Parts: sequence; structure tokens; C-alpha cells
Amino acid sequence: MQRGTILGILSLTLLLGSLALGQEARPERQIAITIDDLPFGGPDLGLSRIRAENEAILATLRKEGVSATGFVNEGKLYVPGEIDARAALLDKWLEAGQELGNHTFSHLSLRDTPVPAFEEDLVRGETVTRWLAGRHGGKLRYFRHPFLHTGPSLEARQDFERFLAARGYTVAPVTIENSDYIFSRVYNEMKTKGDAAGMRRTADAYLGFTAAQLDFWEGVAQAVVGRPMRHVLLLHDNEINAGHLGDLLALLRRRRYRFVPLEEALRDEAYRLPDAYAGRAGVSWLYRWAVSRGIKIDWQREPEPPAEIQTLYGRIMGPPK
Ligand SMILES: [Zn+2]
Repeated sequence: MQRGTILGILSLTLLLGSLALGQEARPERQIAITIDDLPFGGPDLGLSRIRAENEAILATLRKEGVSATGFVNEGKLYVPGEIDARAALLDKWLEAGQELGNHTFSHLSLRDTPVPAFEEDLVRGETVTRWLAGRHGGKLRYFRHPFLHTGPSLEARQDFERFLAARGYTVAPVTIENSDYIFSRVYNEMKTKGDAAGMRRTADAYLGFTAAQLDFWEGVAQAVVGRPMRHVLLLHDNEINAGHLGDLLALLRRRRYRFVPLEEALRDEAYRLPDAYAGRAGVSWLYRWAVSRGIKIDWQREPEPPAEIQTLYGRIMGPPK
């Protein structure tokens, strides 16, 4: 063997070795994808748009091999003449191997609703989903609080959590969200007008904002948990995700995230951290843990959606009621 060849093999071995080391130096991260407000988030755009939206999201999840959890508001099924068709959308999620959880019947807030009335709405919201899950050999295991409102006082929170546990539910916490409902509401209007350039701009802003949120909350996790943790991302069943969930998952993959089911994410010990938070805001569980442990974070640094998007959203929604 010639000297040049040996050196060539040696340097190739060194190169491969350093590549492998480089991968170890940047460990894989994990994240669970959760999607709220099934069968649609935001305004009711009519059955055909809602169906297209769910099909696109499910196709992306299938293509990317992601096991997600979808949280249902059964109140959105009851449109005369469309009940079966809307329930069939939920069935498609289960057929695709995705899991469904309860998000109350009418998307009430536990901040503004007395606990007994809230519990009644939750029970009302499990009828169809529990039946469908059973047909697919599954159960209704998870509950996601609408608006992430977990109760205005510690007493109300604990009262409701006891009810949840007795009914067999596990709370589905959230560590990262990306205000997708704001971007999607703007995107809906542009789609209705056929404004493809506007849709593209909104999607780019959405992905940019998601990256900024990841930067911020990954930093908070480091400060609160002391290491990268298994995150739970909150998204909604809406048109911007129908169009761009693939781009969002690619963004996460570039940041070395692997997608895990919610059950696996919740095995992270971080989810057992003390949580003494009670209040009117719907906030990340990282905020709750930070406050409970007295860890100082500069919350002013949390990014906000671009001003242009906020202005368009404000114009669509009108003045607050
Ligand atoms: Zn919701």
C-alpha cells in the first residue's frame, strides 16, 4: 500500500471520527406536538375548508412520522346537517394513529367559569371522542385547559385537578407556544382573498417567530430545569399549520429535535417540578416552575409577533369587547 493511500485512509478516519464527535457534542432534543381546538381553531370557515385543513395536517404528520395529540372541542361538531361529517374528521385522526384528548365542549375558561359548570362542560365534551377512541382501541387520557387557564386561585385549581384525576385524566402541560392563532387568522383572510404573496409573507413571519420563541423558551428551560428538557409544543388545528406544518417540523429538525408522543415527553422529571402557580394568566409551565422556585427570568425578553401581523390581526378582530 502506498504511503499516500494510508494517509488518505487515516485522515478520512479522523474526519469521520470528528463528525461523530460533533454529533455527540450537540445532543438530540425532544419535543411533543400537541394540536388544540379540533376540528378547527379560529372562525368556522365551513366544512370543505375545515376538511382540507385536517387532511393536510394529518398528511404532514404521517409523512414526518409524528405521533401527535389533538385536543377536541366537541361543541364544534354540532352544525345541523354536518354532525356526522364533522365527527368523521375526528375519526380520521384516530385512523391515522394520532391520539385525541379533551379540551372541553365549548372552550370555556376556568378563569371565568365556576368549577362545577366547567366540569359539566368537560364531561359534555367527552361523549363522541371517548366513543370514537374506544372503537380504535384507545382511551381518553389527556385534558388540555382552554387558554391554559388552570384556575384563578390555588383552591379552584386543586379542586379541579382532583376532579380530573378521579375521572382518569392527565393534564397536558405546555412549555412552548408560538401564537399560531394570530398568524392563522391573518392567513385565513389572505387565503379568502386569494392573496398568495400575503400568505407567503405571513407564513415566513410565523416561522421566524417560532424560531424566536424556541430561542427564548430553550433558554428559560436551561435556567429553570438546568438542562435541555423534553418540550411540549402547543399548536392549533388551523390553516397556517395546514399549509406550513411541514416547514415548522423541518425548522425543529434543523434544531436537532426528535418528535416524541406526549406520554414520552411527560416522562421527563421536569414535569414533576413543584407548581404553586395560580392566577388569571394562561402561561407556560416553565413560567409556573420558575415562579414557584423563585427563579428570576427577564420575561420582558419574550418575543412578540411582528407589529405588522399584530396590526392586521387587530383590524380583523376589531376592538376588544
Ligand atoms: Zn384551545
